[in-house]
Amino acid sequence: MQVLKFGGTSVGSADRIKHVAQLLMNGGRKLVVLSAVAGTTNALAEICRELYNGNKESLEPSIGQLAEQYENLTSELYTEESAKNAALELVSNYFNNIRAFGLDMFTPFEEKAILAHGELISTGLLQLYLEEINTESTLISALDFMRIDQRNEPDEWYIKTNLSRILNQTDSKIIITQGFICRNHFGEIDNLKRGGSDYSASIIGAAIHTDEIQIWTDIDGMHNNDPRLVSNTRPIERLTFDEAAELAYFGAKILHPSSILPARKANIPVVLKNTLDPEKKGTIISNESSGNSIKAVAAKDEITAIKIKSDRMLLAHGFLRKVFEVFERHAVAIDMITTSEVAVSLTIDTKEDISNLLEELEFYGQVEVDTDQCIICVVGHFLQSEPGHAAKIMDSLKTIPLRMISYGGSKNNVSFLIQKEDKAEALLALNRGLFDL
Ligand code: ASP
Ligand code: MG
Repeated sequence: MQVLKFGGTSVGSADRIKHVAQLLMNGGRKLVVLSAVAGTTNALAEICRELYNGNKESLEPSIGQLAEQYENLTSELYTEESAKNAALELVSNYFNNIRAFGLDMFTPFEEKAILAHGELISTGLLQLYLEEINTESTLISALDFMRIDQRNEPDEWYIKTNLSRILNQTDSKIIITQGFICRNHFGEIDNLKRGGSDYSASIIGAAIHTDEIQIWTDIDGMHNNDPRLVSNTRPIERLTFDEAAELAYFGAKILHPSSILPARKANIPVVLKNTLDPEKKGTIISNESSGNSIKAVAAKDEITAIKIKSDRMLLAHGFLRKVFEVFERHAVAIDMITTSEVAVSLTIDTKEDISNLLEELEFYGQVEVDTDQCIICVVGHFLQSEPGHAAKIMDSLKTIPLRMISYGGSKNNVSFLIQKEDKAEALLALNRGLFDL
């Protein structure tokens, strides 16, 4: 059975939903993982924010506006009156649920339940559409098999057991389920964090040992540079799991960074495909490398750099451990590190208030903080036996002021920290220098 995940823009309008339905008609048995219609989860998150703030007056207009979008979508998508009515009823039931969650005390529990509605609605609408065009399908609820444990990690045994049981109960050729949503170990509705539908698809693919996990979006695969800032980018044909993980983490928005993990563990290729151009190859992410050494460039914004400078570091052991323990105590993840004999620089990308963390760090030395930084990450296969890559990268960046350089952490990544305002120029310079574009 194939696993295919369609993102929010792929189900973003009546035409796009019809198009997805066409893609599902051919070939063998399929498990389809859907995101919410583009913009819906953001709108639901905004509704939750209003509920937290107790903004009851602005609430009904916001809910009503979103509900109206779905009423319009419904009237465009279905032709038959019965299908239209069934869809309108589905939409109205879900929106009544959303309203009901806002009536009483508002806690993260209600918030997660509301956020789940985007995927509940999109999957319901696709199934009704397939029904209208006489294509048999089964809708299974991710809430019946997708679960995270106490550490917020997928509960593999639970997922596998329940998903297999549910799949054995149907012989439909098209099975639809929701991405993003799950239950937590209390059994409450939860989610895999924003953008988590890719992760759902990967967890599902690994659980059922599919041959291939397909992630369908509206771009022809992962590109070798940021298409929003650089005009002549091109899709990358092949990436290893490690390269794709680096790119996804460092800014390639097309794939959720966690989604590589389950696929890699189960050694199942992930293929990124374009719904608008299904014949195109897209990007294949697998264990196989294509050998081409520099594959892509990505950038991650809103980085904060912290430098801790201390004479005590000189020849002292245990200094770095003490510094890192401060970050551990504050549950702040570190991305990049560079050290010298008297100072250590590192980067974080949290938006939380870090004043307590900084106060603790001051105990160990002079602390300098630079916000609005950007990590530029060059991904590929950098073997020690093939010199020259670093020189080529550095040469391309010769006019850009560099704050940190990290090389050798893995054989797949060379990263630089620069000022946010130099980002576009750095990406362009690397495009010219590395890809002759
Ligand atoms: N709908 C969710 C979000 O917008 C999950 C996803 O689309 O992957 O974050
Ligand atoms: Mg996404």
